[in-house]
Amino acid sequence: MSQTDTSEIILKGISGSPGICIGKAYLVDKEGVDVIEKYTISKDKVKKETNRFRTAVTKAKNELADIIKGAPEELRRSVNILETHLILHKDKMLYGKTIDIIKNELVNAEWALKKTTAQAKSMFNNIPDPFLKSRSVDIEHVSESIMRNLVGLKDVNISNIDKRVILVAHNLSPAETSQIQLEKIMGFITDRGGKASHTSIIARTLEIPAVLGLDNATRVIKTDDIIIVDGSEGIVIVNPAEETLLRYSVLREKFETHKADILRISDRPAESSDGQLFSIMGNIELPEEIVAVKDHGGDGIGLFRTEFLYLNRINFPDEQELFDQYKEVVELMAPKPVTIRTLDINGDKEISSVPTLEEANPALGLRAIRFCLKNPEIFKTQLRAILRSAAYGNVRLMLPMISGCDEIFATFKLLDTVAESLEKDGLAYNRDIKIGIMIEIPSAAIMADAMADLVDFFSIGTNDLVQYTLAIDRVNRHVAYLYNPLHPAVIRMIKHVVDAGKKKNIKTFMCGEMASEIINLPILLGIGLDALSMSPQSIPTIKNMIRKISVKESRLFLKEALKQKFAIDTMQLITDTFGDTLTNDIYAK
Ligand code: PEP
Ligand code: MG
Repeated sequence: MSQTDTSEIILKGISGSPGICIGKAYLVDKEGVDVIEKYTISKDKVKKETNRFRTAVTKAKNELADIIKGAPEELRRSVNILETHLILHKDKMLYGKTIDIIKNELVNAEWALKKTTAQAKSMFNNIPDPFLKSRSVDIEHVSESIMRNLVGLKDVNISNIDKRVILVAHNLSPAETSQIQLEKIMGFITDRGGKASHTSIIARTLEIPAVLGLDNATRVIKTDDIIIVDGSEGIVIVNPAEETLLRYSVLREKFETHKADILRISDRPAESSDGQLFSIMGNIELPEEIVAVKDHGGDGIGLFRTEFLYLNRINFPDEQELFDQYKEVVELMAPKPVTIRTLDINGDKEISSVPTLEEANPALGLRAIRFCLKNPEIFKTQLRAILRSAAYGNVRLMLPMISGCDEIFATFKLLDTVAESLEKDGLAYNRDIKIGIMIEIPSAAIMADAMADLVDFFSIGTNDLVQYTLAIDRVNRHVAYLYNPLHPAVIRMIKHVVDAGKKKNIKTFMCGEMASEIINLPILLGIGLDALSMSPQSIPTIKNMIRKISVKESRLFLKEALKQKFAIDTMQLITDTFGDTLTNDIYAK
């Protein structure tokens, strides 16, 4: 926090969703359940205590069902999250275990719930995948709403806000954010949360500016304070001086005009200034996100993360459920391609029929393709659903976490078995689809020339490739400062993969976060990637930037970039060479 002489206060946080808004703050002042008392109960009070817990769960569920009913259409995605919350209320991990603890340890319901929540959260926290890991927040939200009902506290009701405000909160749960009426909320700021939090996801979906992880915004800001939220830079200015207000009003205008301009032309091809065409696609987790991909000019789906249907449930989805979902996506997107990535989950989850794994290093454990090949029945169910959906449109199949050629062969064998069984069953399917692998483990990158003989395309998953190349746990904040896709080793590794692909005539895409940051574009175009895939909202900006860069110039630039020994020098070189083009747009990102 810094204070200027005009007494305006500048708070720095994390950019959750780009854009600028200026308005009055509205502090969401919810009472928290801070201290949970523990007391013992006698055996004859167990039934009463478990009933008290059951009633609190029912009340929390009913409240949630009401919120789901009233949620606006734009928030389909968070409604999905809430629907999984509804299931979580009765999940044996939370519900059953709390009742067990009340019965076995003869303690009050609040204490039992606290204990179960801590156990469940730590289980999710041990999962290396940040998407799954962040689902421990879901447990926290569900538990909090049950707890509030147990101790009789009222929940915050955002839907009652009756003027246009900027929401200031310690943390917002999906249930709270789902009550937001677009015409009322200009932006969000929260003390907690990061880029992957629900608040951030929802803000980006609604295209509302958001700054998160501010630590002390709720202590510094009061309701009705005038604040500026710069979601692009992750800055909040409280009580801005006249001159600051003026400056940001101009910037806001510029941002809005620019955003509208690039959105208007987003369905045009991404053609570099020297005439090379790039395919810019969207990453999705749910069928509902197809609309956003289409609205933002996506040339297809470059990564369909299929984990969502497997989460927060006690059994695995069956073939029909998977098929229905894939078919919907494929048909909606046809004739554009849909790249369905097979399950990228690790075994560290309480799913019936799969024992929970004890892994000292889950990031190096039984994850993704390893899990699938160890559990062929689960894998075959998904492969059948994918091949069936391929009869209805343009499907590509993509395998995550490939570390060696044997995993590719093993999957091909399963695919043949699956195709045979579909033939026998007389079901429509298509085995003749493009099959690619994600390059996210250094061994796969090094073996790219051999792997290129086996598959139809590569897609570089930089989120993991950076983690495994630099030996940085992508969710460990102590080493986060080392996490840099512009590390010379990462750039060389990507180049090695693309070169190997080109030699064998197969295309290389990129679907990790690196593809959505415009600062990286000169390097990516110079290396010769064929397509990029990213969150739908980033597509217009990336397409727009590609139109301003020449591939020839990027190739020359790459030669210089490859001579750098430090990421920071590469970064400097990018801004020195492409400064005007990039900085003008970075501001308007
Ligand atoms: C990646 O690793 O870059 C990637 C796109 O996959 P995920 O983030 O789902 O691991
Ligand atoms: Mg990955």
